[in-house]
Amino acid sequence: MANYFGWLENPQINFERNFEVMRDFRKGGINPSMFVDFIKAVKSLPPINDRTDVDYATLDKQFNLTDISPKDASTIIGEVMRRGIESNKFCWHPQASNTTCNIDSSGKIIVSAAHSIQNNGVLSKIVENGHVMGYDMNKGEFDGKQLGKNYASIFWGFCNNHDSIFRPIEINPFTGTAEQNFLFAYRGFVVSSHKKIEVSSWINFGEQSDKDINENRKIFDSAILANDYSIIETEIFELPAFYPIAVSSSFFLDFDFEGNAIPHSDERMEDIYVTLLPGEKKTYFLLSYFTQDKHLYGNLGVQLKLRNNLKI
Ligand SMILES: [Zn+2]
Repeated sequence: MANYFGWLENPQINFERNFEVMRDFRKGGINPSMFVDFIKAVKSLPPINDRTDVDYATLDKQFNLTDISPKDASTIIGEVMRRGIESNKFCWHPQASNTTCNIDSSGKIIVSAAHSIQNNGVLSKIVENGHVMGYDMNKGEFDGKQLGKNYASIFWGFCNNHDSIFRPIEINPFTGTAEQNFLFAYRGFVVSSHKKIEVSSWINFGEQSDKDINENRKIFDSAILANDYSIIETEIFELPAFYPIAVSSSFFLDFDFEGNAIPHSDERMEDIYVTLLPGEKKTYFLLSYFTQDKHLYGNLGVQLKLRNNLKI
């Protein structure tokens, strides 16, 4: 049987995206003339647990499928990822529209490469010979990689007009105002959610994942429209040294630092937002969450301080 059928055994893989690329690249025996029938046949396979090698062998024979090389496999996955990123460029601003966004002559919104880490304030501090180390999609997987400063930490999530929402953290030094803390948390939310949306074009995260992003986004959006920065609670940790690391991200915790379970709701995944920000001779670590989620995450800051090993 064709060696790429493993993709069909994993319900988390959106196999159609892979097969579309194989069709366009004419790999593994998949091509435009048989594609519609092939996809129909794949979707008519028995449920994963009931499938046998005979089912796959029948497909093989019907469509003259052939194995792909490891090099082809990584080229195909790389292209699937590139298309996922390309097809998910959009402006996150709550007022984004064809009349408020930066548009081209055909009226299409131009999404720019936004920096999730401040380019000339933070990246320039940690850069070495024009490069920083970061994680990037490399040969179809995430890997540590040297990145040019202008390409590091970018994501396609704002038009030029609306990227200016971040001016108070791009231009002004960090002083811990409510607005700055809010914007750092918001950027952690957007950059992480944007990545997840890109990846969900080739991985099935299920409906809950979209719901989590949408529900959290609603809270941020209405706060932006009302200039209400009090919806975010931020604990600021100041490390007394310069560390050449910068982070903007969000995730959730199932347990706190003492091992107590953190019970999440089904309505919305409660996230925390983290920012690591090197300054002059000191480094700031910002731990943020929605004020309405304080009952879940309110102890984290105290616990972190008690551990007294923040540097590690
Ligand atoms: Zn916009």
